[in-house]
Amino acid sequence: MAKALVLFSGGLDSQLACLILMKEGIEVVPVFFETYFFKAEKAKRFAEEIGLTLRIENISEEHLKIVQNPPHGYGKNMNPCIDCHMLMIKRAKEIMEKEGFDFIATGEVLDERPFSQRDKVFEEMEKTLGLEGKIVRPLSQKLLKISEAERKGLIKREHMLDIKGQSRVRQIQLAKDFGLKEYETPASGCILTDPEFAKRLKELKKINPCFDGNDTQILRNGRVFFEDKIVFIVGRNEFENKRLEDLRKSNDVLLVPDFPGPSVLIRSFSDEINDNIIYKGKELLIKYSKKVSDNPLDSIKEVKGA
Ligand code: SF4
Repeated sequence: MAKALVLFSGGLDSQLACLILMKEGIEVVPVFFETYFFKAEKAKRFAEEIGLTLRIENISEEHLKIVQNPPHGYGKNMNPCIDCHMLMIKRAKEIMEKEGFDFIATGEVLDERPFSQRDKVFEEMEKTLGLEGKIVRPLSQKLLKISEAERKGLIKREHMLDIKGQSRVRQIQLAKDFGLKEYETPASGCILTDPEFAKRLKELKKINPCFDGNDTQILRNGRVFFEDKIVFIVGRNEFENKRLEDLRKSNDVLLVPDFPGPSVLIRSFSDEINDNIIYKGKELLIKYSKKVSDNPLDSIKEVKGA
């Protein structure tokens, strides 16, 4: 039985790509490339929905370098889709060659995303990675150059589809035809496409171009305030307060009130955190507390170091 490694984001398109290939009698292994910005939980569920077990590969550190400095630039927000996708395909290629998969497949749809899903981009990427003819895109394959899998008769070209553009009508009809009960459309679990998060990350990049994974994770929690080379994060609930505590680094200061109020994490990307900065953090903490004690400034614990 021929085997395909399918890049699986958890979105409807990747579910359909798997289902089309399974119908061709292909053994399908869905693979999810986990990063700091896109976690696998949802994809796992959507793979199970079509009877598959998701394989998860962690590419966080390599992906982070791309987010810091993407050779092909960013999409609409801080999403470096062309380079990110190239990295995933490169990793998939390594797995394919090592483990004897016949080809790689994706749920990409021609012209669905003007920045990254054009035929020229597909071709350039395949050429650069030495994968010409090795990638099948079942949803648009009929509109693309013939693949090796079709030439070898592993899949039939006439069973592939010719979907193009941003309309979701055909995908939704296909989901019905395949009896899919639960699916996500469109597939955006990647927080780099979120405008609010992108704004925070841009600010971070300005003050610290070599940000690490932990720096990006604190931005996912709470209210975020930048001042010079300092970032203040104010937790909005118990979960976020706990996350800030867990993400604390050795030079950070965490402010924790004795009264009902948020924790505030202070991180500096230049000098040490002095009393003046701590005072500003306390002011923020008090501002976002529902109820404060009589002497709030004296009722806030300064926890230093991790
Ligand atoms: S949306 Fe996120 S995960 Fe998907 S290709 Fe773009 S950067 Fe990568």
